[in-house]
This record gives sequence, C-alpha cells and structure tokens, in this order.
Amino acid sequence: MFSVVDTHSHVHFPAFDADIDAVISRTRDRQIGLITVGTKFTTSKSAVEFAENHEDIWATIGLYPGHVHDHGFIDENEELTDEAAPECEFDEAKYAMLVVHTKVVGIGEFGLDYSRIPEGMDIETFKEDQRKVARQQLRFATRFNKPVVIHCRGGKTADVSGANDDMRMLIAEEIARGGLKRRGVIHSFTGTVEDAKKYADLGFLISITGIVTFAKSVADAVREIPLEQMMVETDCPYLAPVPHRGKRNEPVNVISIAQAIADLKGIALEEVARVTTENAKKLFGLS
Ligand SMILES: [Zn+2]
Repeated sequence: MFSVVDTHSHVHFPAFDADIDAVISRTRDRQIGLITVGTKFTTSKSAVEFAENHEDIWATIGLYPGHVHDHGFIDENEELTDEAAPECEFDEAKYAMLVVHTKVVGIGEFGLDYSRIPEGMDIETFKEDQRKVARQQLRFATRFNKPVVIHCRGGKTADVSGANDDMRMLIAEEIARGGLKRRGVIHSFTGTVEDAKKYADLGFLISITGIVTFAKSVADAVREIPLEQMMVETDCPYLAPVPHRGKRNEPVNVISIAQAIADLKGIALEEVARVTTENAKKLFGLS
C-alpha cells in the first residue's frame, strides 16, 4: 500500500549504493510508491532487477537523450566508467528482452535534450539525431503498449519551447499513426501554462519536481495547471527541493514537493497526494 507515488527516481543508481537499505526503509515508512527510471541499456537492466527485488517499486526502461551523443562527460552518480559509452541508436532487440518483465511499467526516460551539443557538431544534424532516437522509442512504446516518460529540455541555441514544440510534433505524429494509446508524462516539467495545455490536448500528464520550490516560473505554472493533469516526482539523486538543495535527493522528499504544490494551490497535502496517486496508478497501471 502507498499513499503517494514518487513517479520518477533513480534509486538503483550508484549514488545510493552505500545506504540503499536505509533509503528504502525511510521510503516505506512514509508509504511512498516508487518508480525507478532507466537511462540507457545498463541502467535500464539494473532498474528492472531492482524493481523485481522490491515490493511497491516499479521500473521504466529507455535511452536518455543525453546518452545519444558523446559529450565526454561521465556522471558518477549514474554509471560506472566502463559502462559510459554512448548509444547512438536505440537497440530495439536488446530493450525488447527487458520490456517483457512484469515490473516494467513504461518506456523512458527518453526525449529531446538540446542543452548539451557536442563541440563542433552541426546543430541541425544533432537535433535530427535526437529526434530519430526519440521516434524509435515512441514506436517501441506503441509496439509494447506502454506509456512513455519524456525528458524534454532546450538550450542556448534552441529555447525550451522549441524543444517542447519538436517533442509535441513527434508525439502527435505517433498518435496520428494510431500509436501511443496509453500516452505518457512530461517528466520534470519546466514549461509554461501554455505548454502544459498543449500537452493536455495530446492527453499527456506533466510531472513536478523539487524545482517548484525554487523556480518562480514553475510555481506560477503549477498554480494554473489542474491537479488532474499532474504527478509528483523527485528525480533523485538529482534536483533536491528546498531546504535540501545541493544535497543528494531521495524519495521521501516527494512529500515536500506535494506540500509545495498544496501551498501554491491553497489546498490540503492529502488532496495533492490522493489525486496525483490516482493519476500515477491509472497511467502506469500500478496496483
Ligand atoms: Zn531522471
């Protein structure tokens, strides 16, 4: 049983290796359901293994857009150095072996990230590569009838709304083919109210992280967006909410995020927990 769901975490990452049992026991004490998210083949595989060993924890599998190109950067919170090679294509056959596990509830995180372009690379080629790999995973989600977990971020050369426009175009394209019946969520939403409305028109939810506790633009959007379109997530170990900023984030902090939403909307924490949990159960088929 759980009373709130952290719909996007990475508790199976090396960042938690030293004290994972304590982290999970704090999560259970607060009755928090948990989805742990893969970002490439190795971390997708370990997400599935982790979920299979824990009650009320589910997994998603996918290829994060930051891993499609080589940026010469290794995030030690996420992966071991010898597993750090980029995946320039989504290898459908490999991921198809993982998707059949019963604890896999979605495809992602994947999408578009225009914020880190490898040095010297032509921007249009870069964006086309990103769109290609996103398209491959939208089709994969359709093939296995799973909802999608979308990462979408703009950058210096293409603003956030540009990336969101491209992402919506890809989603609309897949829906027009008769796909994506179960739709999905825009993870760590940082767009405008207008963006959220356009995603709602496509049948997509948005998910709110700790950024809501320190970014006025996100707080402003959250006031306007209906709870019925919303879920909550930590994205831990990243994006710790106030007052934990800069520290390693963990699933219990999802309560602070739900509380921040409740305060902004002038409603009770229980209401935010209840509606976002219903949304998560329905989207991912959790029981
Ligand atoms: Zn994430």
